[in-house]
Amino acid sequence: MKVKVIKSSEGEALDIELEEDFLKANEKIANLNRKMFNRYNVKVFDIMGSIGSGKTTIIERLVEILKEKYRIGVIAGDTSTTIDAERISKYGVPSIQINTGKECHLDALMVRKAAKNLLRKNIDIIFIENVGNLICPADFPLGAHKRIVVVSVTEGEYMIKKKQDIFRVADIGVINKKDMAVYMGIDINSLVRDALEANPNIKVVVTSAKTGEGIRELINLLELKI
Ligand code: MG
Ligand code: ZN
Repeated sequence: MKVKVIKSSEGEALDIELEEDFLKANEKIANLNRKMFNRYNVKVFDIMGSIGSGKTTIIERLVEILKEKYRIGVIAGDTSTTIDAERISKYGVPSIQINTGKECHLDALMVRKAAKNLLRKNIDIIFIENVGNLICPADFPLGAHKRIVVVSVTEGEYMIKKKQDIFRVADIGVINKKDMAVYMGIDINSLVRDALEANPNIKVVVTSAKTGEGIRELINLLELKI
């Protein structure tokens, strides 16, 4: 399937430096997005995390399992490449790449545009892969029903402690690359504790997107049925 690419034009993206008004505007659009998603009866998931944490691979595993039962669409954010949307489109699901240029996060307006494209295709689920970054996506809700933050054990033992904000806004924390923990000398339990310390309400799942471990548990947390 061919990948559609949307480039965010200069000045169109909401810039965090322009502060509060833009954050408020973003939040308004996010609320409108949520209403639109509900009207179309689509469940939307915002997947955030650093470059290399395994966001795309997790989406691939989810799509493999869920595509028999649901019509899925994917919106992938990246500053300049179309790698992620192309990877996912190989599974035969409509995938839209948003190229954000200088912006290091997706905002609600960019997602609204892309989502409108997908909603025409009568889909049930949209996975949004946010731009690889653990900082400003936290400030830009997109209207998704659940926000998921992915970290991998290869990001080191202090990753969660240093990025608490994104854990505070997330509903689900995914600790990925479990298979690498032994090589990295990482204690997964302490990462789980760090996530819960940042946000006592977060649901945490440990996965290895490579082997598929934990993916069904993640699907449960997304409240999707298989
Ligand atoms: Mg990716
Ligand atoms: Zn940003």
